[in-house]
Amino acid sequence: MGKKKNRREPQTLELAPIGVETHAHLDLDDFDEDREEILARAGECGIASIGNVFLGPEAFEAGRRLFDGHPEVFFILGVHPNDAHQCSNGALDRMREQFKTEPRLKALGEIGLDFYWDKVDHDVQRKAFRKQLHLARELDLPVVIHSRDAHDDTMAILEEEGFKDYPVLWHCFGGNAEEAKAILANGWFISLPGPVTFKANHDLHAAVSQLPLDRMMVETDCPYLTPEPWRGKRNEPAYVVFTAEKVALLKGIRLTDIWRMLAENARRFFRLDEGCL
Ligand SMILES: [Zn+2]
Repeated sequence: MGKKKNRREPQTLELAPIGVETHAHLDLDDFDEDREEILARAGECGIASIGNVFLGPEAFEAGRRLFDGHPEVFFILGVHPNDAHQCSNGALDRMREQFKTEPRLKALGEIGLDFYWDKVDHDVQRKAFRKQLHLARELDLPVVIHSRDAHDDTMAILEEEGFKDYPVLWHCFGGNAEEAKAILANGWFISLPGPVTFKANHDLHAAVSQLPLDRMMVETDCPYLTPEPWRGKRNEPAYVVFTAEKVALLKGIRLTDIWRMLAENARRFFRLDEGCL
């Protein structure tokens, strides 16, 4: 592997083994060659828990066994807005059963609206989003939101469905201070991805500098959205340390302190200390 000399390895940050990476897609075949290695490296870099997001009931059935030997991985499951046409009543029944029988499933997501890729009719997306919100409420599950080019519509549906002060996590936040403020005003949480480390993202930096310390988390969304200094390569959970490092800088707080706070927020949100983890 030709690595550039100036790229720091994530181990060099020497973080305590308490961190939580809240959003990974390690079941994807991008990791078929080296999944075990990737999970081991996450552990060496200070990550104690990883939330793996399955994009629907079939993906969950097909991929759950990949993590049999890895109790540090907890599960998130939902029909992604780009697959919203697959969110049939049958799919909802299947997920209900999966949530009831698998204690490692901690949240419903990623669900929401995606008007960027625009793969599925907007009304089909809205319907699938609402149905899954109802399922989350029925099963008392925290919700992980995917919202792309659809901030106002996503907000409106969550508010109409009465999710103010419900445990909602805005995954992969890339918005500005005003959007962050609206999310926070509803009592919700924000998860920050790799692009926080990109120099040009001034609006996002401004938003992060104003986030309350008890309402944020970090994630990779791997294999996508790789932070600096590994931008351009495949992303992996270990790289979440670089995102945390940038957040520490923006907040003016020591990395070791923010690492602990981010982890505490995630453990509380996903109720990781209840049940098996
Ligand atoms: Zn994702």
